[in-house]
Amino acid sequence: MKVGVLALQGAVTEHIRSIELAGVEAVAVKKIEELADVQGLIIPGGESTTIGKLMHKYGFIEAIREFSQAGKPIFGTCAGLIVLAKKIEGQDEAHLALMDITVARNAFGRQRESFETDLNIKGIDEPVRAVFIRAPLITSVGNQVEVLSTYQDEIVTARQGHLLVSSYHPELTDDYRLHQYFADMVRAYQGSIS
Ligand code: GLN
Repeated sequence: MKVGVLALQGAVTEHIRSIELAGVEAVAVKKIEELADVQGLIIPGGESTTIGKLMHKYGFIEAIREFSQAGKPIFGTCAGLIVLAKKIEGQDEAHLALMDITVARNAFGRQRESFETDLNIKGIDEPVRAVFIRAPLITSVGNQVEVLSTYQDEIVTARQGHLLVSSYHPELTDDYRLHQYFADMVRAYQGSIS
């Protein structure tokens, strides 16, 4: 079993380290062909407009939609959350448009460009350390979406079946329990096909 980390932009090595700490082999994915070797995919943070453009340029929009269609788990963090969303506030077009959520970009304002906090996440026992950097918020969710955590009443972690998203960067701390949660989703997928 292997998890890929989309390596177009952003904190790729940190995600590889965190998922490996969760006990799963990880590889950087730079070309669409490499998706065939992985059973789960992480889309890191960065800048969603840039990631979206690069995804179009290298054929990842269609390839990741097919990957998702097959039921393979995908975990989007920060900008990765934005590119998975069906709707981005103030923008006409979404990117992958896979998850039934609406997001607001840079939703914490300039005063709070970045901050850290401890979050209670459904399915994880103790609070998880979360680093927010020009983070998006989920402003509405469809009825297939389960809210896993909120920060000041705003949704910051959610799941829709095989899709998991966080507004923040779980890969920038030593706390790899959200990666462990995702690794369990990938194990469940692997178990369901073998
Ligand atoms: N603000 C960025 C965007 O809108 C996301 C920030 C991040 O990934 N840390 O794309």
